[in-house]
Amino acid sequence: MTRFDLIAAKAVARELPTRQEALAVLAGDDDELMDLVAAAFRVRREFFGRRVKLNYLVNIKSGLCPEDCFYCSQRVGSAADVLKYTWLKTDEVIASAEAGVAGGARRVCLVASGRGPTDKDIDRVASAIGAFKERNPDIEVCACLGLLADGQAERLADAGTTAYNHNLNTSGAHYADICTTHEYADRVSTVAAAKQSGLSPCSGLIAGLGETDEDLVDVAFALRAMGADSVPVNFLIPFEGTPLAGQWQLTPQRCLRILAMVRFVNPDAEVRLAGGREIHLRTLQPLALHIVNSIFLGDYLTSEGQPGAADLAMIADAGFTVEGAPAQPPDQAADERPDPAQPQPAHPGLVHVRRRGAGTGLPANT
Ligand code: SF4
Repeated sequence: MTRFDLIAAKAVARELPTRQEALAVLAGDDDELMDLVAAAFRVRREFFGRRVKLNYLVNIKSGLCPEDCFYCSQRVGSAADVLKYTWLKTDEVIASAEAGVAGGARRVCLVASGRGPTDKDIDRVASAIGAFKERNPDIEVCACLGLLADGQAERLADAGTTAYNHNLNTSGAHYADICTTHEYADRVSTVAAAKQSGLSPCSGLIAGLGETDEDLVDVAFALRAMGADSVPVNFLIPFEGTPLAGQWQLTPQRCLRILAMVRFVNPDAEVRLAGGREIHLRTLQPLALHIVNSIFLGDYLTSEGQPGAADLAMIADAGFTVEGAPAQPPDQAADERPDPAQPQPAHPGLVHVRRRGAGTGLPANT
């Protein structure tokens, strides 16, 4: 019996840990790390077995945002050399999203930079979602378009959208330190509006923004209180050309503690290992699969992830199965292991700007 077993037992019963217990998870030491992962795995296994859901990001409008979120490569004044393009056409959205589906994704996430959509933007996105759903009725679509005005969530829901993503990112107390052009309360309102309209609320956080343990616990509890169905956990990708460039505060062990705390607080939510996993967890990524039940396949909005085939091989090697995928013979899974001649980046200084997939003429990484 370890000190994390009591927290895990509560989580299995969908009972909140106390704040002290959540803080103790973050403050644990490395000698107890495997005990913590094992306790979080019991919660993950209770609600999701050994399944991993694959999600695929499509950046349908990239860069040139008027907002100033300090962590974002698309923010106003960003000097990050990321792809910049306006709204993709419907056929481009469908082609990019279907590349993710072909790679095994069960949910595609259509994301646009900007403070929030106009009604005309909603028309455009709703039309693309309707066309995609006609061809892919079993694939979930999540929209992420920023702050929503009255009635916009309902129009997305009517078009066949499954979920709406709007991350809280950090605690209310820390929010003014990471953005000055909108407020934490604006984000809470948009998640509430999405939920009210019948869209599945997807909202998560970014770790590594200079927050305290208390901030992380606050945001995890806030996500539970909002009833987030999906909780993406990002680790800061500190792009050159943004205010948080050079901010490398995370270790692989801390990332695992953060994921475990989020799992204990949101035990039956789809906790998703999101941006920054490759550069912060590095070789410990497979351990994170014992805590989360969902990852993004391939690339992120403006940076490249590890090859999609390496994601699939990692899942198979760790003994997990991709949700919705036919069972694979073991030798085929072995064939998908990464090429040993192409080692994954082991140094956190390697952030690769995305140059393929949506908005380019090059095939997507799926
Ligand atoms: S609103 Fe979105 S796209 Fe714009 S700066 Fe903030 S995070 Fe980036």
